[in-house]
Amino acid sequence: MCPACGSSIVVKMIGDFEILQCEHCSWKLESTVSHVPLVTGPEVLSAKLRWKDGRVSTKEAIAAKKHVPAFADIGISALLQQFGDSTEYDLGELYRPTALQLKEAAEKDGLVVVLRS
Ligand SMILES: [Zn+2]
Repeated sequence: MCPACGSSIVVKMIGDFEILQCEHCSWKLESTVSHVPLVTGPEVLSAKLRWKDGRVSTKEAIAAKKHVPAFADIGISALLQQFGDSTEYDLGELYRPTALQLKEAAEKDGLVVVLRS
């Protein structure tokens, strides 16, 4: 809608300029257009490990240790203790590419990785 007269606006793209022009009056707005796509999704995703049987298995703890850098220095028995009786483990927010990479790699080892934006 044209802010001056309320008529409809025509949008034209000329090079790096986006030109909004009223069909009725002389109102016109030029703006530069960013080439970075506006919709790229969130930068970070929240990641969770979800245990298949509702409780962590030794196999899952081994896979978690292998794929999650924060667990690399923790022993399997300590990890099993840390996960305890919980049905899932919150990994917090991960940078999107890291989260997607983790999901792909970890799921090959039988881990369930739940990502949410
Ligand atoms: Zn107008």
